[in-house]
Amino acid sequence: MTPPPRVRRDPRDAAAARQRAGGRPAEVAPETAAPLRIDTPDGLVLAVPDLASGRLSAADRELMGAARQLADLLGGALALLAGRAPEVALRFRPELEGADRVLLPLDPAFAQDLAEPRVAFVLAALEAYAPRHVLFPETPLGGELARRVAARLGERPGVGVWRFSAAEATLAIDSGRGELRRPLPRILLPAPGAFAPITGGPVREGRPLPLAGDPLPPLARLERTLPVDPATVPLAEADLILSAGAGVTDWAGFHRAAAALGAAEAGSRVVCDAGHLSRDRQVGVSGTLVAPRCYLAFGISGASQHLAGIAAAERVVAVNADPGAEMMHRADLAIVADAQPVLAELARRATERRGGRDGG
Ligand SMILES: Cc1cc2nc3c(=O)[nH]c(=O)nc-3n(C[C@H](O)[C@H](O)[C@H](O)COP(=O)(O)OP(=O)(O)OC[C@H]3O[C@@H](n4cnc5c(N)ncnc54)[C@H](O)[C@@H]3O)c2cc1C
Repeated sequence: MTPPPRVRRDPRDAAAARQRAGGRPAEVAPETAAPLRIDTPDGLVLAVPDLASGRLSAADRELMGAARQLADLLGGALALLAGRAPEVALRFRPELEGADRVLLPLDPAFAQDLAEPRVAFVLAALEAYAPRHVLFPETPLGGELARRVAARLGERPGVGVWRFSAAEATLAIDSGRGELRRPLPRILLPAPGAFAPITGGPVREGRPLPLAGDPLPPLARLERTLPVDPATVPLAEADLILSAGAGVTDWAGFHRAAAALGAAEAGSRVVCDAGHLSRDRQVGVSGTLVAPRCYLAFGISGASQHLAGIAAAERVVAVNADPGAEMMHRADLAIVADAQPVLAELARRATERRGGRDGG
């Protein structure tokens, strides 16, 4: 049996990834090249990301990577269904994320993270453009949406896909202990971590395609959102990460700052080896590859093995006593300082902003 492939990103893609995420420009702006157009594709592959708050999450980026791969295998074009509520801005550029076509329905139905009202838009896209395959992320929202669409179509979705050919999908079964091959199903859910996000490649056309849906009033209603304990969020899914290296000595201060910020805790291999943080908090090639909106790196030198783990981070803030540290070059904001007083001040200000509540 072949083990599920874990994707390893090339740290050299970091600059391009930052540029895609709206960070500092890459050395060679991809816009200088003419967009790649596919005028007569051999069908469409439709990607349906969650797009919470108009952004691509780490899971959405993997989904785009998988959809791009499949579209290229089939000689097709990648269409992105990027529906959103009218008041929500699109916070990324589809043409930099591999999209040849973009369906941009604006509807209040997208305001809440509910699968039920989104079904109508996916069905409308199927009806209007007959994509050969439709891919969803295996997230609470994307997973439910995929299963609802599959049920409406009377089809069996391909769940836990860890690779595909033009004819077959290989699926993880039995909690990843086995694999199964199936003729490529129309509805596909890639396994988390199995496909690399797009961090390079040409600028695509991103041609807009019209789409209207007629969502039924949902039976479910979102009553309230419960606060999530950042300590329980898998690092790969965390939006805000406070990360420590050997330059951190005040561990109580570090934990206080993470709680006050509502950030997930992480660290370099050195601090995990020393037992300050558990192994599942290690970022890097031999730890977790993360894709937060913001990565706060305190006292981390920026060894290549660590930087490879943050290639897809949107923004990096580094605090380091050494201005020449590699992490300071990687950072969008570099602060030359002792980590301990900055952590204490961060905790104080974050607590103040939350009205004196520590954490939560
Ligand atoms: C095969 C292999 C795999 C590896 N995988 C990983 C991995 O997955 N993840 C990983 O992280 N590493 C990994 N490593 C280890 C990696 O090479 C580095 O040793 C490690 O990342 C360094 O951790 P660090 O930056 O915390 O410590 P150091 O390199 O010791 O850096 C400490 C930093 O803190 C700064 N500093 C010191 N005092 C202060 C202060 N008071 N305030 C502010 N800054 C201060 C210093 O200037 C320095 O930049 C791997 C190594 C190998 C060989």
